Amino acid sequence: MGVTAIVGANWGDEGKGKMIDSLAAQADIVVRFQGGRNAGHTVINEYGRFALHLLPAGVFYPQVVNIIGPGVALDIPAFFAEYDDLISKGVPSPVVKISQRTQVVLRYHRLFDELEEERLKERQFGSTKMGIAPFYADKCLKVGLQVTDLFDEQKLRAKIEQVLKAKNVVLAELYKKPPLTAADVLEELLPYVPRLKEHVCDTTVILHRALAENKNIILEGQLGALRDPDHGIYPFTTSSSTLAGYAAVGAGLPPYAIERIIALVKAYSSCVGAGPFVTELTGPEGEELRRRGGDRGEYGATTGRPRRVGWFDAVASRYGCRVQGATEVALTLVDVLGYLDQIPVCTAYEIDGQKVTDFPVTGELEKARPVYEYLPGWKSGISHMRSYEELPEAVKNYVEFIEAQIGIPVRWLSVGPHRDCLIKRW
Ligand code: GDP
Repeated sequence: MGVTAIVGANWGDEGKGKMIDSLAAQADIVVRFQGGRNAGHTVINEYGRFALHLLPAGVFYPQVVNIIGPGVALDIPAFFAEYDDLISKGVPSPVVKISQRTQVVLRYHRLFDELEEERLKERQFGSTKMGIAPFYADKCLKVGLQVTDLFDEQKLRAKIEQVLKAKNVVLAELYKKPPLTAADVLEELLPYVPRLKEHVCDTTVILHRALAENKNIILEGQLGALRDPDHGIYPFTTSSSTLAGYAAVGAGLPPYAIERIIALVKAYSSCVGAGPFVTELTGPEGEELRRRGGDRGEYGATTGRPRRVGWFDAVASRYGCRVQGATEVALTLVDVLGYLDQIPVCTAYEIDGQKVTDFPVTGELEKARPVYEYLPGWKSGISHMRSYEELPEAVKNYVEFIEAQIGIPVRWLSVGPHRDCLIKRW
């Protein structure tokens, strides 16, 4: 079966949780390869409704080994809270392995994230304030902690004291806050050490063995292509690569092992946080789409923040699929558009009087105006449908128009939030 990356082609919230929960029925391993608890993957199945933050979306299947790869930002208290919440809701104890090289989000990462957003005021990035940017900054600065560092308390304390020398200067001088001690940082982590030891192992060995046995491995992306720090709408991006190209690194597999890249493309647009968003709807049209979107309206699964919404953006989605290296597309939340008489689709931007069809850099994007084409709506519910043939002609027309615009075959249609609401075209 091989290795499949399932990743977002837009700004995130494309329905990856639902898609992975559906496809994990046939999986042996599901791996999270980047990001942390800053995003929520919504899953609705026979156990209930869940917003998974750190746990891979294979946790509902007892046969699946779920892996947190070295590319992830591991927030330990959040990990165990999420794990225990699943058990309390009747989900059988999932198998979750954490790479021994995964690094840990520390108290000062969260603190610095909050303080910096406060300091930036109206110039803030819309961070989820969960310490993700300071965490990855420390990783690059080589002052991060790998999870196995927690198993040697003496060395650990010395490392943290060293790091705090610099952090406390910034706390005092820039943010006018009291200093932190190693004890402040460690008190929330050390109680978890015995439980952590049950999960931490060499996940590279597990993955390479599974690869040799031709097992079915899913690599689960977080957020979407346009949030990638190198290829997205920098600086309104996240701090780790959201691309399938990074999945091999963040999981621990050879790049050539990834055979399929399923890019999730949302049938309309949504975006959380700051940054240019060309097709954004701000008036009553936007209110209505936000209310009808998702499974309970478009509100952040982690933060509860109202998501910005807009019409489908072919320029951004085509680019998102390209930088993901999509081999196939899953078009998601198609059912949501069933209330419209006609559906606007942005097929180009106008920037300084010029028509543009290649996704530009952030500065240009801020000047872009959408150029719309209008497709007929279908004015009906489609969530009960399970084959492409039975869909109304207007739905097929919308799907095939988008397929032609983005140039990648649309193999899957997600027509509702429940794991069963999925149509496979071939
Ligand atoms: P993710 O981060 O990519 O997993 O996406 P989120 O969970 O943040 O947001 C997707 C939202 O859409 C959630 O509320 C899902 O329950 C919902 N959802 C996913 N797929 C579909 C779909 O095909 N139709 C509808 N109506 N909702 C969906």
